[in-house]
Amino acid sequence: MSDCIFCKIVEGTVPSKKVYENESVLAFRDITPAAPVHILIIPKRHIPTMNDVAPEDGALLAEVLLTARQLAQDEGIAESGYRLINNCNSDGGQTAYHLHFHLLGGHPLGVLVE
Ligand code: IMP
Repeated sequence: MSDCIFCKIVEGTVPSKKVYENESVLAFRDITPAAPVHILIIPKRHIPTMNDVAPEDGALLAEVLLTARQLAQDEGIAESGYRLINNCNSDGGQTAYHLHFHLLGGHPLGVLVE
């Protein structure tokens, strides 16, 4: 997708602070951090939203989530705790239409859902 900012980050035409990369997954620091640790984890392949994840994408989705788990360890927030968020479509607050998960932590995040 030529107009997708995250595809451009994958291609390297838009700079990013990468923290992890393999063949299918990329993780980089959010440009507007909402917490001391704020990393975005994405599949390199363009999938617009969580609604577009197909059953055959299960292994890829698992890889994205396992990357988040490992990064929480690497960033030293696994024990204190963190939040992993996907925003889907407009009511969910999605602004970048390339599937991504926010890894947030490094201070108390408060209660989101009771
Ligand atoms: P969303 O609201 O869940 O779609 O989150 C999109 C996130 O992407 C926001 O937290 C933005 O700050 C972040 N973002 C947008 N452009 C860039 C960029 O070029 N580099 C890193 N993060 C970005």
